[in-house]
Order: sequence, then structure tokens, then C-alpha cells
Amino acid sequence: MAPAPDNAAADLNPESPTLEKQDKNTTKHFHWPPRPVEVASPLVTDHSRDASSTSQKAGRFAATRRALAEIERVWLQPTRQPLAVRMRTTGWTPDHPALYCEQCGLTVGAYEETEFGCANCHNMRWPWDRFVRLSEYDGHLAKWVKEVKFERSRILARDLGALLGKQLRSAGALDQSNKNLLVIPMPTTWRRRAARGVDHALLIADAVARELQSPLQIALSRRHTPSQRAVPPSQRSRNAARARYTLRRPERLLGKRIILVDDVRTSGASLDAASRAIRRALDPLAAPPRAQIVEIWAATLGSAPDPARKMTLSKQQQMTSTQHLGEKFQARQSPSCPPDS
Ligand SMILES: [Zn+2]
Repeated sequence: MAPAPDNAAADLNPESPTLEKQDKNTTKHFHWPPRPVEVASPLVTDHSRDASSTSQKAGRFAATRRALAEIERVWLQPTRQPLAVRMRTTGWTPDHPALYCEQCGLTVGAYEETEFGCANCHNMRWPWDRFVRLSEYDGHLAKWVKEVKFERSRILARDLGALLGKQLRSAGALDQSNKNLLVIPMPTTWRRRAARGVDHALLIADAVARELQSPLQIALSRRHTPSQRAVPPSQRSRNAARARYTLRRPERLLGKRIILVDDVRTSGASLDAASRAIRRALDPLAAPPRAQIVEIWAATLGSAPDPARKMTLSKQQQMTSTQHLGEKFQARQSPSCPPDS
């Protein structure tokens, strides 16, 4: 360790002979007091610094760095946190199946759901046989879904799709052979895909199919209509009907359990129209003597909460309430998928 100077004040004096001696012997550009060190991004270049720089070599590399930054911005995915890390840091988990109605997908409280549906849907007849979701479309999940749709986060779409696949598995989608399972994404139009730069439903459905080790088939197509979020709730059924969903090669779907995948169920009008299109195309084919039962499961990342529902229960309250439910829910006490499984 170097010995302490005899006179520290003398060392800080610019006219000190000690400083002059150090200046001559060590560097030509010694400044006192020291200037703050400027830290530059390895890819993003400050153009004003380039202009004032006298080094031609630095200027050449600056152009390269600018090109790399542009390639990263346009062609590569920005660095994003994996879903497992987000779940650990936020504490978010997918819902237990007892927390939502298996007919309509809306959140239910204790004793609110029966075999005919919940208070929201017991008078309705859905064209699907079962509904599976990750969670209510709110909070963290809503933020992540928007990141997938509007920031083209393909990695997050695949992570969420894999988690939905695990949720489907725990709901019993694979109780038959997975050879009878067929995953179909909700279709989008080329105009919307071009505008967004990503077919998010296809990415999610692909991850679901991989998780369930089942085939993926792009079997549905549709006409372009305004987004469901752009029309009032009262007109969404009519808007979905205008989309005119069409099923390609319906004979390949006979005898299958179809998993119809979308990102969010808002009013349910789009999923309803697509499921009815599948039923319409298959019913004539499935008639006797070729009777083959077709089962449709609707699966979404989130379902929009019912705005008419005034009382909302926290997850913890609902989990406590479900302990009093009957044998139907007691049989489903297997926990939801852990983040890293
Ligand atoms: Zn319901």
C-alpha cells in the first residue's frame, strides 16, 4: 500500500510542483478536476459526438454500429423477459379450473356454477363443449397479451401458448388419445396480419399443439371485418356474423376433439361464430351412418370480465369458497401448472 502524502492540500493544488511532474511524466491530457466519464451504448451512436470527433476510424465504426442497431430494431426481437421470470416476479399464476365457468369462461364464485353453466350463461347454449382459459383478461395478463399483439413478441406468445397447453392438459383435454386431438387457431385476415406484423392466434395455437403433442391445422378462414374491440358490445354478434367463417376440408375433422384457440374471449361472439361454422360444416358429414362425434373446446389466454358483475372476488377469496363446493370441484384439486413445469 502506498504511503500517505505528507501534505494532501499541496497535491490538490494545480500549481503544485508534484502535479506538474506527474503531468509531464504520465499523460498530456491531464485535467483537474476530473471530467465525468461518458458511457456510450455499444449499438446506439450519438451523432453529435461523431460530428465533433476528429478520428476518422471512429467515424467508420459509428456507421457500422448504426447499421447493427437498425438491424436489431427491425429484424431481431428486442430482449424480453421470459414468462417464467415474469410470473416469479409478479406472483401471477393461471386460474384453477374451479375459478371460472367451464361453459362460458367467466369468473364464478362459490356455488355459482352448475352442470348447466353459471348465473351468466345458464340460459344460453354454447356451440362448444368446454371452455378453458388461463385467467381473467386483466392486470398482468392483459399487459402481456397486448405485448404479443401490438409489440410482436413472438417469444411471449409461445410461452403463454405453452402455459395454455398445460392448462388444457390439467383440464383433461388428453383423457383420450392425443391422436384424436386437433388444434385450430382462430383465423385472421391478411390485412390485419399485415397491419400487426404477427398472427398472434396462430403463434399461441402452435405452442398449444406442441405442448399437447397434437397436430395443428389452419382449418378456418374468414372475411375482413372491423375489430371486435372497435365496435360496441351490442353489435359484436352482428360483426362476427359478417366475418363468415369458412371451414376447409371438414372431413378431416370428423371424430376429433377440436381445440379452438384465441387470445382473448371478449363477448364470445367470434368464438361462437367460428364454432357454429365448424358445426354447420360437419353436421351433414357426421350424420348416420357416418356418425362421428365432434367435440369442440374453446381455449383462450384470457376472458374479459363481465362489466355487469358488480361483486368481484379476489382469487384467494374464491379459492377459499371453492373448498365448500361439491364433488365436482373436489375432484379437480390438482394445482394449476407451476411456472417452470
Ligand atoms: Zn357460465
